[in-house]
Amino acid sequence: MAKQGLLGWHYNDSGIYTVKSGYWLATHLPNQEIIQPTYGNTTIKKKLWKTQMPSKIHHFLWKASSRSLPKGSNLKRRHVTNQDQCCRCCSSEETEKHILFDCPYAQQIWRASGISNMILTDTSATLEEMMEACLQ
Ligand SMILES: [Zn+2]
Repeated sequence: MAKQGLLGWHYNDSGIYTVKSGYWLATHLPNQEIIQPTYGNTTIKKKLWKTQMPSKIHHFLWKASSRSLPKGSNLKRRHVTNQDQCCRCCSSEETEKHILFDCPYAQQIWRASGISNMILTDTSATLEEMMEACLQ
């Protein structure tokens, strides 16, 4: 009978990963390895976490600002799919900015929302500028 290896987290007593034990490991790595922060504007991320909204929305917007949503451009880069076009409009690369702001379907929703911030329909604005406008 072959021995089966048990996978477990060896940095706390329970053997179950916790954010606290992960943080401890990150700050006690040998050879002073530097852990890179996630992609994206940290000022917007801090503002995002301080804004009152459901936690699901916090996580979704954090993923969007970190450019880690499973959108076409990421899926193509990871060889999950071979096309990166927006599934709704089929006219542009599917990026976070396109999904949330530039797609004609997203723009219809922004117009219907009654929010009168012109930056939301300005296709030359960056994702960060648009997210900043939404958080105000
Ligand atoms: Zn689209």
